[in-house]
Amino acid sequence: MTKSNEVLRTPDRGRGVIARYREYLPVSESTPIISLGEGGTPLIFSSRLSAIVGRGCEVYLKYEGLNPTCSFKDRGMTLAVSKAVECGTVAVICASTGNTSASAAAYAARAGIRCAVVLPAGKIASGKLLQAFAYGAKVVAIDGNFDDALLVVRALGRRDDFAIVNSINPDRISGQKTAAFEIVDDLGDAPDFHLLPLGNAGNITAYWAGYREYRDAGNCTSLPAMLGFQAAGAAPMFHGRVVENPETIASAIRIGNPASWEAAQRAVQDSRGAVDIVTDNEILEAQRWLATHEGIFVEPASAAPIAGLFNCCEPVRGPVYPFTQIREGSRIVCTVTGHGLKDPEVMVDRATKLTAVAPNEQEVLRAIGF
Ligand SMILES: *Cc1c(COP(=O)(O)O)cnc(C)c1O
Repeated sequence: MTKSNEVLRTPDRGRGVIARYREYLPVSESTPIISLGEGGTPLIFSSRLSAIVGRGCEVYLKYEGLNPTCSFKDRGMTLAVSKAVECGTVAVICASTGNTSASAAAYAARAGIRCAVVLPAGKIASGKLLQAFAYGAKVVAIDGNFDDALLVVRALGRRDDFAIVNSINPDRISGQKTAAFEIVDDLGDAPDFHLLPLGNAGNITAYWAGYREYRDAGNCTSLPAMLGFQAAGAAPMFHGRVVENPETIASAIRIGNPASWEAAQRAVQDSRGAVDIVTDNEILEAQRWLATHEGIFVEPASAAPIAGLFNCCEPVRGPVYPFTQIREGSRIVCTVTGHGLKDPEVMVDRATKLTAVAPNEQEVLRAIGF
C-alpha cells in the first residue's frame, strides 16, 4: 500500500461506476447505461493531517469534487437515471440544495430525457444553480427550505409523469455505495474510521451499506466506525429532533429533517460511530486550511469532516468522539464531497480586494512581500 504523499492508484478512472461494479448493482443486460465516467476519484494521503492526528495514524481524503458535475451525487445519479430510462421514464424530478439538481440535470441531458428541479429560493450556491441551467433543466424556486421542496417533490412523484431522483430513490443509495468499494480497493481493506458530512443522510447510509456488502463478499475483513458531521445550526440527528429553520453557511447540509434519518442512525450505531456538530467558523477554517495546506478546494459542507477531525484531536472542546478513542495506527478516511468552485460567494467575500501596482519588477516584488 502506498503511504507516500501521492495519489493512490486509480486504474478505473473514467469507466463509470456501473461498468466497474455492475455485479454489485441492480442492473441487467437490458439496462441502458447512462454514464459520464463518474467515480474512480483519487484517495489522497495527507501527511499533514496524519501528523496532526499523530500516533502513527494515516489520514486519506476521498476527493469527490472530481466527479463529472463536481460532487459525489453523480455516483447515485448514473444508476437512478439509467434505471429511470429502463422503465421508460421521460422526466426526472428532484428537490435539491444544489448538487443533486446539477447532477440530475447533467445525467438527464445525457439520457435525452427532461429534468425538473425544485429549489429553495435564494438558498442555492451560484455555481450549482448555474449548472442546472447550463444542462437545460426546468428550474423552479419555492418560497421555503429544502425540506419543503422535498415534500412537494414527494407529492409530484406520486404522479406517473416523474421519476424522483432524490436519495429517497434506492438506486441513488446503491450507486453511492461504490465510493466505499473504491476506498477498500485502494487501501486493501476498510479504514478504521470514515468521516463525512451529514445532510439528508443518504451518503452515510450508502457508505455503510457498501462497506458491509464488500465485507460479506470477502473483499475486506473489517468495517469502519462511521462519523457524521452536521453544522451546528442544522443538526437534527445530533439533537434528536427536527430543526424547523436550519441555518448554516454549508448549504449542502442545510437540512432540518433528513430523509434517511433512521438508516443513518443504524449506520452510526452498528458501526460504533457518532454524529457530531461543527460550527460555521470551524467549517470555514477547515475549508481554508485544506485549500492552503493540501491544494484541495472544497465547498463548505465538504470541510465539515475536516473540522470534525480537528475537533476529535482537541479533547478540551469536548467532542462526541474524543481523540483518545482513535486507536494508534488507525487509518482514517474523510470524504470531501464537492468542489469549492461550486460555492464561490464564500471565498469571494473573504478574498482581499486587489489593487493594481505599476508594471515593473520592484513594485511587483514589493507587492509579493516575501
Ligand atoms: C449532498 C451533499 C452532502 C450531504 O450528503 P447527504 O447524503 O445528503 O447526507 C454533503 N456535501 C455535498 C457537497 C453534497 O452535495
